[in-house]
Amino acid sequence: MERKKFTEPELNTVEGLTAKLIEVNARLQASEAERTRMLENISHDLRAPLTAIRSCVDYLLEYKDGRSEEYEHICNLLDVRTRMMETLVNDLYYLTCLDSRQDDFDFNYVKLGPFLEEYFFNAQVDNRYNERELILEVPEDFSFTVRIDTARMVRVLDNLFTNALKYSKEGDRIILGAYTESKYAVFYVKDTGIGIAKEHLDKIFDRLYMADYARTPGNQNSSGLGLSIVQSIIKSHGGRVTCNSTQGEGSRFTVYLPLQNTTEK
Ligand code: ADP
Repeated sequence: MERKKFTEPELNTVEGLTAKLIEVNARLQASEAERTRMLENISHDLRAPLTAIRSCVDYLLEYKDGRSEEYEHICNLLDVRTRMMETLVNDLYYLTCLDSRQDDFDFNYVKLGPFLEEYFFNAQVDNRYNERELILEVPEDFSFTVRIDTARMVRVLDNLFTNALKYSKEGDRIILGAYTESKYAVFYVKDTGIGIAKEHLDKIFDRLYMADYARTPGNQNSSGLGLSIVQSIIKSHGGRVTCNSTQGEGSRFTVYLPLQNTTEK
């Protein structure tokens, strides 16, 4: 984008300054769009070589029996590091696609209660949650309508549920609930896990932010982008997401979605 030159007298007038601001703003937007496009292309292009690396790692893992301890150690290290890279690249690609294709949503009018119940019943039969107590706090007659992209909203629930799982331990509870508040249908995912310290709370929605306790090799399914993805999806629905947490007691993520007039269905 070509930079327009403003003369000294022009910049001494309100009109001149306004024009300059508009021009600077347009340039900022253009460079932001360029940055997003570049990130989208990079993360897209990284997926093919990663798939090839994954096939090789799986092959090596399959034939590790009877090999030396060192061979096994290297295979396991490769597996862990590759999984971390897969999570990061896939999340980055998903997020940049959200950034650059805001009009790509497939919105439908959906009753929030049954939608949440279906998600909950699927989680109940998912082995990953075997060691947690799953609790549903959605009232039986909760038939309020929201306008959502169901695939994207499932992604929101997946990210909140897997976080609740990652940052809790055996026997902890994960609760999915819903209620209405003024013009919003609200749902929450609450856990009785490790909670979040005050100094981290205002940063957890930042891109790539991970609290130090989350930066462990055992935490292979973390990219620091999960909550940014949640926030971006919810903003595109005209809603907002908040977090309340107490260290050592657990966290609660609350999602507000605009209630729809059912006659709009
Ligand atoms: P990550 O991939 O690291 O989980 P997220 O963006 O999903 O990235 O979360 C950002 C950070 O917020 C995490 O690294 C963790 O420190 C904190 N966090 C998110 N959810 C929870 C939770 N339910 N309990 C405790 N900490 C959490």
